[in-house]
Amino acid sequence: MAEPLSTTIDKTICLVHPHRAAAARCPQCRRFFCGECITEHDGRLTCAQCLRSEAEDAEGLGAKSRGGRLTWLPALLQLVAAIVVLWLVYYLLARFLMLIPASFHDGTVWE
Ligand SMILES: [Zn+2]
Ligand SMILES: [Zn+2]
Repeated sequence: MAEPLSTTIDKTICLVHPHRAAAARCPQCRRFFCGECITEHDGRLTCAQCLRSEAEDAEGLGAKSRGGRLTWLPALLQLVAAIVVLWLVYYLLARFLMLIPASFHDGTVWE
């Protein structure tokens, strides 16, 4: 990617803290960060944003095999609750319709 030289120099400041000089560059997203924003993880430098997205990836992949932190459980419970509520609404609606006299369904009223 061809960029003007001036903006390249500007990028040697921390992406999060524009008033701080960049201490290191994240090898993954190739952006510059100060010493506070970049951390060493598994023997290599990673910025906080990449570290977070990596953790999310690991969580998503490992949730099934090692139990994970069950972050999917609230979503599943919400889904089950939604299904139960829907079922209940249809059940009550069906019961309500059954209570209506059969003559009401004949359709002769509109013809
Ligand atoms: Zn990064
Ligand atoms: Zn910073």
